[in-house]
Amino acid sequence: MSESDFYDVIIIGGGPGGLTAGIYSMRAALKTILIEMAAPGGQVNNSDSVENWPGDEHLGGAELAMKFAQHAQSYGLEIRSDEVVALEPGLEFHTVRLAGGSTLRSHAIILATGGNPRKMDIPGEDELYGKGVSYCAVCDGFFFRDKTVVVVGGGDTAAEESLYLAKLARQVYLVHRRDALRAGALLQQRVKAECKIEILWNSVVTAIKSDEGGVASVELKDTQTGDQRELATDGVFIFIGFNPNNQLVPAGTRMNADGYVVTDDKCETNIPGIYVIGDLREKYARQIVLSAADGCTAALAAAHFVETRKASEACELPREMQDMAS
Ligand code: NAP
Repeated sequence: MSESDFYDVIIIGGGPGGLTAGIYSMRAALKTILIEMAAPGGQVNNSDSVENWPGDEHLGGAELAMKFAQHAQSYGLEIRSDEVVALEPGLEFHTVRLAGGSTLRSHAIILATGGNPRKMDIPGEDELYGKGVSYCAVCDGFFFRDKTVVVVGGGDTAAEESLYLAKLARQVYLVHRRDALRAGALLQQRVKAECKIEILWNSVVTAIKSDEGGVASVELKDTQTGDQRELATDGVFIFIGFNPNNQLVPAGTRMNADGYVVTDDKCETNIPGIYVIGDLREKYARQIVLSAADGCTAALAAAHFVETRKASEACELPREMQDMAS
């Protein structure tokens, strides 16, 4: 393996977190590479419009993603399009294996592979994504002011997002497949007390229908009687869980029961020099600005880690002198 395949920092994942880490890492003069298998920007590319990125009242998701990538590249960040197939931690360096056949090594790794909202896999869900189907109330709720929305799910997220949407929408239908919510007691109380929210118990959405390109209605099925009916709505928000992309997380890394990686306040895992940021990290909320903040934190911490490691390596005696001393 050549010296050129050795980096100070390897960033895996090119969403807002990874690209921000790239900006800070390059500004700290670290030799850095970012590996991304799709277009830089990650999930942001799928957002029609982003209205909560501070400093920009309105930006297309793909436009914001491009700005992140251009900003990082303006500092000379190397972005390689490839898939990481393995991340192997080591005491002296970490190893990253790519599907294209290359093997890279580094002092520090910043893992920013994010996650994906769980899908229902029903007709209309994919086709109407961004046209009335959403997985993020904070991102898209604003488009449904004084409109009717359907929320699917019965957990904390569905309850919280229903309450958020009730502040904007005219009517929120919370569709849950059972006769009791999974959400915590306090959230349940608040949902039930909110007059704009109507809970449709024992119901599942079996299809989302469109009208002139946008969402027009959902098909509902009663899970007890099997009865079907159609309900008119302008939007469908799906909160049936989130799948963190934790396939590359090395064995022995501390994770919670839901598969999110537990880090300290520097975003460092229990494996020295391996940092996890963004939606893959256990945290209170999943937002672009929070992923970017994680990227900053991890890169600054990684810079300190790399400098300390290089300084300690520089202090070590050369091998032949170590042999003479022993
Ligand atoms: P969750 O707790 O796994 O709840 C998912 C909900 O979706 C459940 O009610 C489930 O129904 C329903 N569901 C799953 N698959 C479905 C399908 N195919 N069709 C219809 N409904 C389906 O997920 P979450 O609400 O995103 O929460 C994830 C974790 O984050 C939880 O540990 C939660 O406590 C935590 N969280 C905490 C807070 C907070 O403390 N403020 C906020 C958000 C999330 P069943 O109930 O029938 O299984």
